[in-house]
Amino acid sequence: MSENYQSKTHVFYSPTKIIVGVNTASQVAQEVRQFGGHRVLIVTDPGVVAADLIAPVESSLKAGNVAYVIYDGVEPEPPSRVIDRGAEMFQAEGCDLVLGVGGGSSLDVAKGISLLATNKGKILDYCGVDRLPKNGAPMILMPTTAGTGSEVTRVLVLTDEEQNTKNVVFTPYALANAAIVDPLLTLSMPPSVTADTGMDAMVHAIETYVSMNATEFSDILAERAMELIADYLPTAWAKGSNTDARYHMSLAATLAGMAFGSGGLGAVHALAYPLGTEYHMTHGRTNAIMLPHVMRYNIPGSPERYARIAEFMGKDTEGYSLMEAAEMAVEAIRELLDTIEVSCQMQDYGIPEDDLPALVDGGMKQARLFVPNPRDLTREDVDSIYREAY
Ligand code: NAD
Repeated sequence: MSENYQSKTHVFYSPTKIIVGVNTASQVAQEVRQFGGHRVLIVTDPGVVAADLIAPVESSLKAGNVAYVIYDGVEPEPPSRVIDRGAEMFQAEGCDLVLGVGGGSSLDVAKGISLLATNKGKILDYCGVDRLPKNGAPMILMPTTAGTGSEVTRVLVLTDEEQNTKNVVFTPYALANAAIVDPLLTLSMPPSVTADTGMDAMVHAIETYVSMNATEFSDILAERAMELIADYLPTAWAKGSNTDARYHMSLAATLAGMAFGSGGLGAVHALAYPLGTEYHMTHGRTNAIMLPHVMRYNIPGSPERYARIAEFMGKDTEGYSLMEAAEMAVEAIRELLDTIEVSCQMQDYGIPEDDLPALVDGGMKQARLFVPNPRDLTREDVDSIYREAY
């Protein structure tokens, strides 16, 4: 399929520096200095603090004589007010560098604070694409889940509480100066967080691989991410202290983030967002629920790609028709979800069937994500996918 790419211009976004490896958190002071930081705002949430993940960061900063203050007010699927409040703290405390430590929620809040350090107003003023006039304050991101890949993307996702919807700020200024990916920070994730965030990374890899905006760059990264997640997510889920599995999951999540940061996403995310806002389910879980149903729907739009996905996930497609091979990708995902004990049926989560029309409305609000999706969707199609997922 790669010959189709000759007619495309490839644009690839990535942070300046990506440091991946065991115990790389200990290098943070050095990175802060390199990017001109003297007084750091650590942006995190209470769960990350309770898991004692700020300790290695603090000890590096103390050893490097770098001053810091902690903002631990991040909430999951962060509402915009959490970003605005953090930005006020950044100014009031006289900080000059933002250090996000946590899952995607903390990293996205860190991005918003960095942007508001130099751009006036509230973060909701900047939802959309390329609406910020200025680059933000220097920023370093350290993921503790594996994960959203937010440490390497140019987007931040927030909850607009007034509109009861998720919204996004897309800007190259949301790229970190440095991403420090230390798998030791992910060892403490409980199995359900490992499962949800690991499936989020898988969805990134799959959605970008079948996206109309995929490129040679995003393909290479997405392919490797799919293989690694299929191989290592079960072990990381079953044995959280397995550093090898955690290393490969951290790497895979970062690769998948680099892939979708340029190749884009699709209908899985569009249909997952309303589940998150309506029922306060985690982003990864909602993606995992919708994934096999949207994959099956999408197959006619890109059967070759889905057949390849089956192979990346370890299926032997030799001797099967193209459509059968593509179906094997859905089968592989269902098997992975079974292994990590994640149900992909909405009724298992106590969602009332009467809510389906409201979910369809919510999914249609995300129609921008249907553009790169390999198969077009009408309102009726969205309705039938939700019914299938029910
Ligand atoms: P999260 O950041 O909301 O964290 C989930 C929970 O796990 C929290 O309670 C947190 O305290 C806890 N936690 C995190 N790391 C831990 C660890 N190592 N040990 C123990 N507990 C830990 O979850 P997430 O899935 O990483 O992020 C979700 C958010 O990221 C959503 O808002 C989503 O929309 C966004 N997102 C952003 C991008 C992007 O590119 N910007 C991409 C995908 C998702």
